Amino acid sequence: MNNKIYNVCIIGSGPAGYTASIYAARAKLEPLLLAGTNYGGQLMLTSELENFPGFPDGINGPEFMYKLNQQSEQFGTEIVPVNCISINTDVYPYIINRSDNIEIKTKSIIIATGSEALWLNKDGEQELKGKGISTCATCDGPFFKDVPVVVVGGGDSAMEEALFLTKFASKVIILHRRNIFRASKLMYERAKAHPKIEIRPFYIVKKWNKDSNNNLNSVLVCNVETEKEEEINCEGAFIAIGHKPNTKFIPKNIELDKNGYIIQKKNSMTNIEGIFACGDIVDSRYKQAITAAGSGCMASIDCEKWLENK
Ligand code: NAP
Repeated sequence: MNNKIYNVCIIGSGPAGYTASIYAARAKLEPLLLAGTNYGGQLMLTSELENFPGFPDGINGPEFMYKLNQQSEQFGTEIVPVNCISINTDVYPYIINRSDNIEIKTKSIIIATGSEALWLNKDGEQELKGKGISTCATCDGPFFKDVPVVVVGGGDSAMEEALFLTKFASKVIILHRRNIFRASKLMYERAKAHPKIEIRPFYIVKKWNKDSNNNLNSVLVCNVETEKEEEINCEGAFIAIGHKPNTKFIPKNIELDKNGYIIQKKNSMTNIEGIFACGDIVDSRYKQAITAAGSGCMASIDCEKWLENK
């Protein structure tokens, strides 16, 4: 056990966690940031970040995260590359159990561990991530101008991604494994009516194929009704089959919504006093770097005020 009692421990090192730490460090709270063994979150998989204000020429995802790390450290955040294993809320100060077997005490906690996009994990997928296969049309769609792309999924995200992609791609094919769609009727109808979109129910992905430059160039699909296989040309593929919030280590008494996202009760505070949450772990809708960063700022300010009043 480390005997120091921290004012605030921030868990997670995406844009939300780093922004929270920058604000907390500038407020002289001497925060501890548990950055995880793989620091940087989802942006570490993004080649070019073009929609974060302030970077007119875009910025490489990992470079952006490196800059956030630098900025946070320079204001005095203690950053450690370990995961949070569990949080004990039965005692106060709260106790956090780290993956390096060190326990620490803290007066408040900001949880910013984000969510993970779900992948299909089909043949060729791993090596084509960032080389044609993506889980974010808002981030990567503009790279696919006048080429055919596929979208996998039958929910609102798949419809929304497909509609967004029509601004760039020559054609968008939605592949869905059955003929019942979780998407709202309105979104489904809008996608169905779009001249650039073709919806193919009963199709599953079997394998992703690459060209001689190791970029995606086609997908092998199978119609589950007829069992017929077919190759579809596509230079981009967007997997929109849902997200999973990273809440594995969270104590049972922190309230989650029906999709597993943390519920913010009073501003950014959870139902447990002194425990705040921000970024994609509270957001099943926007999931953007800029919204996560803004939410990290809010959690840090709320936390500072809460500590002040305590
Ligand atoms: P979702 O509603 O859970 O839909 C996921 C889709 O992916 C389903 O069609 C599902 O098929 C399919 N899927 C899941 N696992 C698969 C697999 N292994 N292989 C192939 N297909 C698979 O997720 P979402 O679309 O991300 O939406 C999440 C929440 O955000 C929803 O509440 C949604 O309404 C909301 N949202 C709203 C908007 C909006 O209002 N503009 C936009 C985006 C999201 P099955 O149906 O066969 O299971």
